[in-house]
Parts: sequence; C-alpha cells; structure tokens
Amino acid sequence: MLGACPRTIGWVTGLPNDFIRTKVYDAGHRAPRGRPPYTDDLVFKTTFKIQAEFGTFAAKYRALTTAGFTPASSLIAAYQHYLSFTPVPSFSFDEAFFLVSNLDGIWACNTPTLQLEPCPRCTARRLVAHGGGFTPVCAFCKEECGERGLRRRVAGRVPPDSGSIDVSAGLPLQIETLRMQRVLESAGAHPRVIAAILSGYPDPSRRAPSRLVRVGKALPVSRWSSGVRTLLRAQFSVMASTFRRLVDRGIEPEQAITAAFRHVLAAFHHAPPLSFNRCFEVVCLSEGLWGVSEPTLQLTDCERCGSTYLASRVDPAPQRCPFCVLLRHPEMYPPPARATAPAATPRLL
Ligand SMILES: [Zn+2]
Ligand SMILES: [Zn+2]
Repeated sequence: MLGACPRTIGWVTGLPNDFIRTKVYDAGHRAPRGRPPYTDDLVFKTTFKIQAEFGTFAAKYRALTTAGFTPASSLIAAYQHYLSFTPVPSFSFDEAFFLVSNLDGIWACNTPTLQLEPCPRCTARRLVAHGGGFTPVCAFCKEECGERGLRRRVAGRVPPDSGSIDVSAGLPLQIETLRMQRVLESAGAHPRVIAAILSGYPDPSRRAPSRLVRVGKALPVSRWSSGVRTLLRAQFSVMASTFRRLVDRGIEPEQAITAAFRHVLAAFHHAPPLSFNRCFEVVCLSEGLWGVSEPTLQLTDCERCGSTYLASRVDPAPQRCPFCVLLRHPEMYPPPARATAPAATPRLL
C-alpha cells in the first residue's frame, strides 16, 4: 500500500518471492514493474530541500529504532509520518528503504554508508557519509536560506492517497502461518506433520487431523520402559515437560512445540539429534493434541531425583525414571567424541 516493489518487500519481510507476487498485490495495489529505483548516490545528488526531507525522515526512523522498534516497523512508521506532512512526497518508499539499508547496514547493504550527525551551526541532524568520508553542506541551513533546486522526479511508485492506508486483517495471519511453516520445514518436520500443526491457524482450507499423524514406525508405548532406550526416554521427557511448561504459561502450542524442540536439542547436544516428527508424536501422545483424543503417555514426577519424566499408561511393566538411570549409569550418555564422529547419524529407536 505504500508502493513498495517486490524486492523491497522481500528484503524487509523475508517472505519468498512467489508468495509476495501472488498474495501481497491485488487489483487495487499492483506490483511496480522493473528494478528497484534507488541508486548509490540517492541522498547527495539531490536538492537541499530533498536532502533535508531525507534527513528528517532518517531522524524519525532513528528515534523509533532507539525506542526499541524493529527496523521494519520503524521504516514503515517513519515513511507514513513523512507522507502525513508532505503534500507531494519527494522520495518513494523503495528509496526510504534503501536509505535505511545504508544507514544501518541492513537488508540491501552489508555495511553502513550513511550516518546522522548534528549540524554545528543549526544543530539539525543531517545525513553525512558514514565515518566522516564526506560531509556535505548542511541541507537544513541551505534550505533556511531559501536556496531551492529543481524538483526532482520521484523514482518509484508513490502511494496515490496516503490518507486511506489501512492494513487488512487477513495478511498478517497468512504471514504468520507462512513463517511457522518455514520454521517447521527447517526443523525437518514432515509435510503431514506441518499440515497438522498449521491446522491450528484459522483457515477453512486446513482441517485438523482426526487421528495421530505419524511418520515411520509407531513408538512402542505398550513396551515403553523396555522398548525405548533410556537416553531417548530422557530426551522425550524433556521435550514433553518443556512443552507443558510453555503451554501452561500461555504460549500457543505451535510456538511451544518448536521452542521445546530447540530446547531439547540444545540440552542434549552431545547426543544424536532427535527427529522433529518423533518429538511431535511424543507431544501428541502425552498432551492429547493434533488428532490424539486419549493420551497414552503421561508426565510423572520422580520422588528420588525431582525430575519430571514420561511414563506410559499402557505399559504394565514398572516404569523407572530415565534420569535416575542415567545418573547411575552415565556411560549410557555418549561422550562428545563419539557423538561428533561421522558414524553418529540420528537413530530413533
Ligand atoms: Zn545546519
Ligand atoms: Zn528420577
């Protein structure tokens, strides 16, 4: 709605190109064509009036980032603020984006090339080259003297009516779903597991699973104490208890399962890595979520070591706390050298 070209949206949001082309633009907001309009000499090859406008915009952006807002929110808010007081904008959102990239060394720029510096004469903060390489005449001082250049043609698309900009409710949710999908993909989740987890987001095209979504052989819940290795039972216990703790604190299950997975990988970083799909199965079976109506695993407090561990409701054998076993037999926990050897491929059961 601010007229950003697809590449700018890609930099700022991290969204993939095909998503931007198909979901972000519509008949009322068409994608600008061609390359982004900015060039390296964006700021200094303009009139003093426009340099002063760039400076005012950059100072607003800086005030917002200093107050703790993200670069993306600060860029959008500062540009909307700029539009609110200028009847005909001198620079486009794409150019504002490029200025911010140069100012902070982010997105389209690896290192900062601009910085804000107060003018010794008028004290206004103006843009100068980063590191003091080039300090142009202060645009604010010049602008006050009434020195004006020709109005520059605005490169890129400028929103026609900035007063009516409104963010629709649907898009942020789509973006959140897409982000979650990416997180799950990078964790190694199977497409069916991803579909099950994403069914928690309101979307009529997605249906919640009616039974457990499993990848590969089922966990032997009826022989839990003898059929699952002690180290794995300890890892699954950490997974399930971390998930429960997060959900109890009001974290959504979708966020909690990915956070708990990261936690268990870090906690057992010497052990062969767990599969996300297996951890998903454990959480389904212990919490009765994502298609499981009757939990078969349950979290139990160990009276001896104080840990919380997973026990099976359908295993008749006595269930021992895996942490107590590991404390007594530490050789079951592989030392770092063995775990990092090339032979250490993820083994599940
Ligand atoms: Zn000045
Ligand atoms: Zn114990």
